[in-house]
Amino acid sequence: MSLKDEGFKRYLGKKYPETWRDMPIAAIVPWPGNTAEVKTHAWRTIRPVINQDKCIRCRLCWTFCPDGAILEVDEEYKTSSGRVFKVSYKVDYDHCKGCGICAAECPVNAIEMVPEER
Ligand code: SF4
Ligand code: SF4
Repeated sequence: MSLKDEGFKRYLGKKYPETWRDMPIAAIVPWPGNTAEVKTHAWRTIRPVINQDKCIRCRLCWTFCPDGAILEVDEEYKTSSGRVFKVSYKVDYDHCKGCGICAAECPVNAIEMVPEER
């Protein structure tokens, strides 16, 4: 059962709302984690691409992304100069909206915004 289905069930005692009367007052979202299931990238026109070799793992992009779309993953990376990092930063392209904040905040210009191609 998906998080959304589970949320409805917990809230209404049934799997889906059957009429508008079943909808939460003021259309609030009574269950957490719902956007994890919704892909919010569809209207992105530019996408961030992280240069792993330039990235100094400062975590600023992770901190500033308003959509939580920068992921810190346990993936070791050795740069061309021999520096070894235990983590890497990746973009969750299902949820990144292409706002460019991560690229603007990166202190070493390791994030490039490139045109989206579909
Ligand atoms: S472009 Fe915006 S939404 Fe996408 S990862 Fe960067 S800060 Fe997050
Ligand atoms: S802000 Fe730039 S240098 Fe810092 S973790 Fe993100 S990509 Fe790497």
